[in-house]
Amino acid sequence: MIAEVYVDIPAGPVDRPFDYRIPEELSSFIAPGMRVTVPFGRTKRLGFVTALKESSALSKLKNIDQVVDPIPVLTGELLDLGRWLADTTLCLTVSAYQAMLPAVMKADYAKTVSVENQEQLGESYPSLVPLFSLRQSIAWKDLAARHPECLKPIRQAISQGVLTVHQQVHNQAKAKKVITAAAAVSKNDLVQAAASCGPRAARQKEALQFFIENDTGAQFPVTDLIRNHHLTRQSLRALEEKGMLRMNFVEQFRNPYGISEETKTGPLPLTEEQKAALQPILHSIENSKDKVFLCHGVTGSGKTEIYLQAIRRVIELGKQAIVLVPEISLTPQMVHRFKGRFGDEVAVMHSGLSKGEKYDEWRKIREGKVKVAVGARSAVFAPFEHLGLIVIDEEHETSYKQEDNPRYHAREVAIHRGQHNGCPVVLGSATPSLESYARARKNVYTLLTLKERFNHHPMPPVKIIDMREEMRGGNHSMFSKKLFSKITDRLEKHEQTVLFLNRRGYSTFVMCRACGTVIKCPHCDISLTYHRANHMLKCHYCGFEMRVPETCPTCGSDSMRYFGSGTQKVEAELNRLLPEARVIRMDVDTTRQKGGHEKLLRLFGAHQADILLGTQMIAKGLDFPEVTLVGVLAADSMLHLPDFRASEKTFQLLTQVSGRAGRHDLPGEVIIQSYTPDHYAVTDAAANDYGRFFQQEMQIRYRHGYPPFYYLALINLTHPEITAAADAAGRVASILKNNLSSSVQVLGPVVPSIARIKDRYRFQCMVKYKREPSLIPLLWKITRHFQETGKDSLQISIDMNPVALM
Ligand code: ADP
Ligand code: ZN
Ligand code: ZN
Repeated sequence: MIAEVYVDIPAGPVDRPFDYRIPEELSSFIAPGMRVTVPFGRTKRLGFVTALKESSALSKLKNIDQVVDPIPVLTGELLDLGRWLADTTLCLTVSAYQAMLPAVMKADYAKTVSVENQEQLGESYPSLVPLFSLRQSIAWKDLAARHPECLKPIRQAISQGVLTVHQQVHNQAKAKKVITAAAAVSKNDLVQAAASCGPRAARQKEALQFFIENDTGAQFPVTDLIRNHHLTRQSLRALEEKGMLRMNFVEQFRNPYGISEETKTGPLPLTEEQKAALQPILHSIENSKDKVFLCHGVTGSGKTEIYLQAIRRVIELGKQAIVLVPEISLTPQMVHRFKGRFGDEVAVMHSGLSKGEKYDEWRKIREGKVKVAVGARSAVFAPFEHLGLIVIDEEHETSYKQEDNPRYHAREVAIHRGQHNGCPVVLGSATPSLESYARARKNVYTLLTLKERFNHHPMPPVKIIDMREEMRGGNHSMFSKKLFSKITDRLEKHEQTVLFLNRRGYSTFVMCRACGTVIKCPHCDISLTYHRANHMLKCHYCGFEMRVPETCPTCGSDSMRYFGSGTQKVEAELNRLLPEARVIRMDVDTTRQKGGHEKLLRLFGAHQADILLGTQMIAKGLDFPEVTLVGVLAADSMLHLPDFRASEKTFQLLTQVSGRAGRHDLPGEVIIQSYTPDHYAVTDAAANDYGRFFQQEMQIRYRHGYPPFYYLALINLTHPEITAAADAAGRVASILKNNLSSSVQVLGPVVPSIARIKDRYRFQCMVKYKREPSLIPLLWKITRHFQETGKDSLQISIDMNPVALM
C-alpha cells in the first residue's frame, strides 16, 4: 500500500503530495487524515496522509516512519477543504491543514496510551496484556516505534473505551487531573463513625458531616472541599485511611467558564418577526438545503434567540452546529447564553483559553462529545461530521478574515462547508457588510429582516454634536457641554453611562510644539503611542519601545507634548471633573489578563461603577439594563483612515455603540460627538438608516470600482532594500498588466500608508477584476517565481479579497 503525504515544509515547490510506502505492520492502520512522520531529504518531517492507493508511478519509495495519531485528525471533508483553501487563497496545502488544527498539535506533543478497563482488556485483547503488565501507560511514540504490529488492536481497544489516549501538553498536562473524594461506605456507617469521633477528631467529624449531608455518592474535588467547605486535607486523608472515604484521580475536561447545570434556560416564545425569520431556516435544516441566509436585524431584535432555536432543531435531528462570533464579542455573556441553553453539548473556542483548554474543546468536537461549537474565526474548521447549520454572527466583522496564511474569510469557508454538507448558513448582523447585503438584494442570499427590538422598545434617540462649534464656543475639553451635563444627570439618577472611544493608550502621539516633529517608530514609519503607565512610547505594529525624549530630536527644544486623547486620558479627565463617579476603563491594556474582560463587565453589570469607558471591545453584545446614556467621544477617528471601507466601518461602529442604550425598561439616549457631523456615515448611523447608508455607499463604491462591484487582489512585496522592493513590485505590475484581460485594472506599485515595517520596505500592487479565470494561475506563477527564502530577500504575499489595505 502507498500513502500520499503532504509534508510539512514551508516551500512552494514541495506543495504537492509525495508517495510513501506503508510498512506491512501499519497497513491496516493508516488512514487519510492522520499525521505521520516521514523521511524527507536527510531529515524527518511531519506530514498529513491525504489518500491511500495501491501503486505508485515511482519505483523507489521510502517508508512511512511513524504514525502520530491514533485516529485521523482531519476528516475527509477537511482534507478536501484544505486543498480548496490552498487553491483559492494561494497558500500551501500543509499551512491550510495546520490552520484547521489546534495550536498544540503543531507544538511538541507526547501522547500516551493507558488502560481504562483492565478486565475487558484481559478478555478481549489478551495479546495486549503483556504490553501493559508493567506500566499503566505507554508513550504512543514507543508503541509506534517498537510494537507496530499492536497498533491495530490498540486502535480497536481505544474505540471501545478499553484503552484511552492522553495527549500531554507540556506542563499543562498536570492541570487536567483532579483528586476527588467520595463516601466509601453507607450513610449509616458515616453517621456511626461521626458519633464515635472524639474531641481530638473534630475536623474529621466535620468532614464526615459534610458527606452525610451530601449523601449523593458524588465525587467532590478535594480542592473544592478545602476551599469552599473548609475541610482540611489531613482529615480527608485520615478518613481515607480509615476506609470511610475513597480518593480518585479523575481526568477532567477543563471547564474554563465553570458554568454548571443550574443556569439552564429554555426557548423563549418568539415574536412574529422572529418566527418569520426562523421558519425558512428550519425548513432548510430539515431538508438539508445549503441556502445562505442574511439575517438583518437591528441590535436587540433577538437574532441570537433565532440561532438558539435553529440549533435546537439541528440537535434534534442528530446533527451538529457551528456558531462563529467575533473574538471581541465572545464575551462571557454570549457564552452563558449558549451554555445555558445547551449545557455540556457546547464546546467554546477562543483565544483566551490556554493551549490545553483549546485542545480539550477541539477533542470534544472530534470525538463527538458535543453538538455545538461556539468560537471565533477558526472554529469554522470544527471537525464535525454531520454538520446541520453554520451561524456567523456579526458577519460584517473584519476579524473573520485571517491576515496570515492561509488568508481565508470564515464566511467563504462556511458557505463552502455548507455546500459540502447540504446545510444552511445564517449570516447575522445589524449592519451587514456591503458585499453580503448586495448579494441578498440579488437573491444570491435569502434576506431575513427584523425591524423591531424584541420588546418593541424604540431605538434610542441619537443626537450629533458638532465639536467644531464647541471649540469655537471656547470649550476645549473632550466633552461637549451637552454630553457632560447628561453624564452628570445620570450620576444623580443613579443610572449608568457607556463612553466609547476608538483609541488606546494615554495619548496617540507625542509632538514637538516648536517644530511639529512627531516621534515615529524607527522601523515602521508610524507614530509611536504614549503609554502613561511606564512613560514609554510604543509601536503598535512591531512592539518597539523607547522612553519619551526630554528634548526634540529635530530642534532640541524641550516642548514635547502629548496629543490626542486615549482612554487613559479620558479616564483621568473624568476623575478630575467628576471625582464622585466610579469609572471602569476597558481597553486592551486593562483586559490583557485572563478573565480581566469578564471581571470588569461583572463589576459594571452589578452596578459597581457608573461609567464604562472603552474602545471597540465595548461596542458589541453588551446588554445592561441600567445603561441609559451612550456617548461617542470622537466619531470620526476611523473616518480618515486610508481604507475604502472607512465609512462602512464608522457606520457599523456607531450603530453598534448606539444599540447599547435603552434596551430594557429605562429609555436610553445616544450622544455622538464629531468633527465631521455632516458625513453620511455619521448621519445615517444616527438615524439608524441602514438602507440609506447602503445606497450612498454603493454609489461611491461603484464610482471608484471597489467591492462589491469589483473583486480585489492585493500583492504585497517587501525587501530590506528600497530599490529591490520597488524593482520587484514594478516587475510584478507589468507581468499582471501584460497577462490579464483588458477589463482588469492593475494599480500600482504604490507605497502603502505604512511604508516600512520591521525594517522592510513595502510596495503594493492592487488588481481589480470581475471575472478573471486566469488570475489565480498567474498569481501562483508570480509567487513561485519571486518566492525566495531568507531574511534579506524578497518576500511576496498575496491577499485575495483583502480587508486590511494598510
Ligand atoms: P440581537 O442578537 O439581535 O442583538 P439578542 O438575541 O441579543 O438580540 O436579544 C436581545 C435581548 O432580548 C436578549 O436579552 C434576549 O434574551 C432577549 N430576547 C430575544 N428574543 C426574545 C423573546 N422572544 N422573548 C423574550 N426575550 C427575548
Ligand atoms: Zn522640535
Ligand atoms: Zn515599529
